[in-house]
Amino acid sequence: MKTIFLTILLAVSASASDIKVFFSPKGGCTEAVVENVGKAKSTILVQAYSFTSAPIAKALVDAAKRGVKVQVILDKSQRTEKYSGADFLLHEGVPIFIDAKHAIAHNKIMVIDSHKILTGSFNFTKEAEESNAENLLVIEDAALAKKYTANWQSHLGHSEPYTDEKETMADTRPNRKRAK
Ligand SMILES: [Zn+2]
Repeated sequence: MKTIFLTILLAVSASASDIKVFFSPKGGCTEAVVENVGKAKSTILVQAYSFTSAPIAKALVDAAKRGVKVQVILDKSQRTEKYSGADFLLHEGVPIFIDAKHAIAHNKIMVIDSHKILTGSFNFTKEAEESNAENLLVIEDAALAKKYTANWQSHLGHSEPYTDEKETMADTRPNRKRAK
């Protein structure tokens, strides 16, 4: 009897109602990300491959401004991506790191307040929202979030802080006095 009760309890605790799914194109993926970032209270860990979505970048900056600790790891391609949100976030004071250890750092995840995970094929880009066939899962699960956080930390361990190289290059313009 006790076993049956426990089995039912476990089945209920793993209820699918804690998982939401969204599909691109134009199926609410960006809105779901923005909404969940908007609800964040303490921490947001991001790992992204391409990151060009203006609404998502703005939502992350707004979260950071209201005191949420936001940290972002991006693939090395974002060092040269013309429309990367990396520069915007960096200039707004959000710490950005580049993971160059892999052929591509292809994860697209957010871990929010240590209990919510956003993941799927959905890149944080305009194309993923408007043109591509993608999926995004929003999962409420603290135990799973712990695993994603550990994986995120392991990537942070071999990532480097992002600096805006395009701006550094601009600083070498002829009318600026060189330090050396
Ligand atoms: Zn890595």
